[in-house]
Amino acid sequence: MRNRFPGYCYKCGCRVPTGYGFFEKLRRPENGRKWRVQCVRCCDGRDVRPWHREVARAERLRDGNTEGGAL
Ligand SMILES: [Zn+2]
Repeated sequence: MRNRFPGYCYKCGCRVPTGYGFFEKLRRPENGRKWRVQCVRCCDGRDVRPWHREVARAERLRDGNTEGGAL
């Protein structure tokens, strides 16, 4: 699942905008955080481009607009 909210990659520390990484649920929350973010490059070595469909989908989920979301 792509991240809906921006954050920082827990592996390389880079900034991860919405849709540019993956989130993982933490079993034991650290400092009240329940999720952590990993960038796509650390996960599978690919680069993400702004026009990628996954990015648009994550932004739509973040904005709570699921209309027209037939992908
Ligand atoms: Zn990373």
